[in-house]
Order: sequence, then structure tokens, then C-alpha cells
Amino acid sequence: MFTLIMRRPDGSTFRLVLDIRTSRLTDEAGRLIDISPLGVVYDNEGETLRDAPGTTRERAEPKSRSVKVLRIQLGLACNFSCAYCVQDRARPAHDEKPSDVAAFIAGLDAWISGAPAVVELWGGEPLLYWHKLKPLVEGLRHRWPEVKLRLTTNGSLLDMDKVDWLVSLGDVSVTVSHDGPGQHLRGKDPLDTLETLEAIRSLFARLGTFAKFHAVMSLPHHSPIALLHYFFDRLGTTDIQVSSSGLKYPPTKDSGLHLVPGNPDEYTAMRHDLAREFRTPYVFANAIVAAPLRHLLYQFAKSVPARARGQGCNMDNPEHLAVTLSGDVIVCHNTSPATHKIGSVHDFDAIRLGHSTSWHHRPECSSCPALLSCGGACMMMEGRERVLSCDNNFSHGLVYLATLLYALTGAKLLRIEGQRIRHLGITSFDF
Ligand code: SF4
Ligand code: SF4
Repeated sequence: MFTLIMRRPDGSTFRLVLDIRTSRLTDEAGRLIDISPLGVVYDNEGETLRDAPGTTRERAEPKSRSVKVLRIQLGLACNFSCAYCVQDRARPAHDEKPSDVAAFIAGLDAWISGAPAVVELWGGEPLLYWHKLKPLVEGLRHRWPEVKLRLTTNGSLLDMDKVDWLVSLGDVSVTVSHDGPGQHLRGKDPLDTLETLEAIRSLFARLGTFAKFHAVMSLPHHSPIALLHYFFDRLGTTDIQVSSSGLKYPPTKDSGLHLVPGNPDEYTAMRHDLAREFRTPYVFANAIVAAPLRHLLYQFAKSVPARARGQGCNMDNPEHLAVTLSGDVIVCHNTSPATHKIGSVHDFDAIRLGHSTSWHHRPECSSCPALLSCGGACMMMEGRERVLSCDNNFSHGLVYLATLLYALTGAKLLRIEGQRIRHLGITSFDF
């Protein structure tokens, strides 16, 4: 239970109460805060939700054959080298033969109990695997005409032919991973190449809200306004949706440490910048704020109990499965079978989610006011990586909470108080 100290524009203060065990946001008298100004009503359906798995390294959970989200990893090769790429930990990668595609599709019936709702195509950079991607996706579309297809690409290999092909697939969402003004930290900017720019413009014009950019923020480039304008200017329209995972992961190399805040003051300054810009109406309305706020609001509206809350990335969900074309099951699409294989579709009942610890077994998460935004960060990370990742997610998650509170009450979050705020001995945290 946390007390949130809020300040109104006239300088007066009041208190709210946040209970992360029940996803309830109330005033001090225990009355629920009105969420209807954001078009949402309480339905308390949380009680009907089933328990989330509480996987630990000692007790690994099985997966379900009723797959809802199937993530297919084509390989981890990439033509970029980003300082904070979570997949850097997994390279070098496996590389399957094109002939594996036919075997993969032909073998589906042996282990999956029906069409998934969603199939996600992942690399590395999936368009590097064009020779496998094209027959795979066409085969899956033929087999599951209703399935939603999702592709995430760095966009550098898109051309008009590939865009025509993507659009022709029907019910496809494409996310272009691009950091806007911070793109130069990753390497070449695909939007600097006229042919690629034209292809991406066409993709966004034809897919509408089924196309978006996804950006990772860094300390030098964390302005959502600068990010949006970068894309608005390059694509020549403000009708562009952008999502962001904030800072999220720590850099994989020490040479990237300048990309994340190095002390509490830098985190505080970044939070204040973000909170101010998130309140700007066109930023607030864009997916960069709207999508995470919807996620937060969903939990409050349903009063999602802690027991039903899974990991933020969903890869602890038994119905979310990450596979390679040869049938290896991996923790998630960001890992390699060489290090994170958890089974095989050819021996489905033996699959167990290893290498992972759910937030339920991490005491800092159970006492974290950012839990509803963060979802426990990466369940695989440990040690220094985990600490950095937690700090990044904590700071960013609080900005979403503060933004939601501002939208509901018109007041700014000043301070959070509680018996324990993440770490033992911390009972007060200034936003
Ligand atoms: S910010 Fe850290 S403590 Fe809080 S939920 Fe995320 S990983 Fe857990
Ligand atoms: S386990 Fe989840 S958070 Fe961690 S790398 Fe995989 S998808 Fe991302």
C-alpha cells in the first residue's frame, strides 16, 4: 500500500492510496478514484482472472498447446549493432535452412491444438531472412487465414516490393524499430535513404494504425516531442503512431553506460522532462503515452489482483510460445536455443519455462509502486543487469503513473510513501 502525495495547480496538496495487490486507486477514505473521464468504468472482473504462473528457477512451468501468441524466431542475425540490444546477450545465433520452413508448417498439427490468435515474426532482423520469411508467412496465411500477423523490423531492408507483399497479406501489423533522433547511436538511419524512406512512407500510408515506429529512449535522447517530430517531419504527416519501451534494458557494454542515467539526479531530471512532455495533448494522444496508460487503466478498471498478474512481456504465459523453425522452444524471441532452450515442440509435454524468475518471487517487485506499469522487467536478468534494468523501469513506470494521475485529478505527483519502496529501508520517494 502506498500513499501518493499530490499537488494541485493552486499549490494545495492531497493524498491518494495505491494498492498494487488489488490494483485499487482510492482517496484516503477508501473511495475509488473516478476513471470515467478517460472513458473507462470499473467492472471488477479481476476476480474472475486465473492465476498467473509463478515460475522460479527451481520450479519451471509447462506451456500450453492452445497457443494464443506464437513468436517465431528466424535467427538472431542483424545488420545493426545497437548498444542496448537485449539480443546481444544471445548472439551468435542459430541459422536454419530454408527447407526447415516446409517441415515447420507441415509439422504444426502434431503439437499445436488450433490456430493461434497472433503469429509474431522475429529476428534478429527478420528481413535478413527473406528467403525463409516469405514462404513461411505465405504458408501460415494459407493455413490460418484469420491469424493476425505481426512483424518487427529495423526498416533498413524495406523496399516497395516488400511493402506491397506485406500489405497484400491482410491483417498484418508492422513495427519499425527506430529511435528517431537517437537512431545514429544504432548506426545508419534508414530514413536517410530515399528508396527506403519512400517504402516506409508507403507502408504507413497503406497500413494506417497497423504500422508504427517503436523507439528505445536514452539519456541523451529521451524527449517524446523530439521523437514524434522526427517521424512527423520525415514522413510528412502527423498521423504517425509511435510506441516506446523507455529506457527499459541496460546497455550490454560498459561503453554504452552514458546512454542511461548514472545517478538519482539524472533519473529525477529525466522523469520531470518526460512527465511534462507526456502532458502535451498530442503526445498524450499518441500511442507513446496512450498505450501504456490504457494498460494501467485496464488494471485499475478490473481491479486485477496480484495473483493474476503475469510478467509484463507475457512470456511467462503458458499460451505464449517462442519457437525456432527447427522446433526448439526458447524462453522468448530474444534468446538463442544455445543458451535458453526450454524444450522442443517435438516433446511438447516436457517443455518447462526455465532460466526465469517471475516478479512474484522478487521481493522488490512486490513492494514497487511501478509494478503495474513495469510488470517485473525481464524475468531472465540477474545481478547488475537486473539492477540497472529495474532502475530504468522504475523511473519510467512512475512517469506513466504520474501521467495517469494528472489526467484523472489535474494534480501532479510529488512524493510516494510506503513501508517499503522496492528496497528495505526506503519509505519515501520524491517523484
Ligand atoms: S521497477 Fe523493478 S522492482 Fe518495480 S516491478 Fe519493475 S523490476 Fe520490479
Ligand atoms: S523474457 Fe520478456 S522481457 Fe526478457 S528479453 Fe524476453 S521478452 Fe524481453
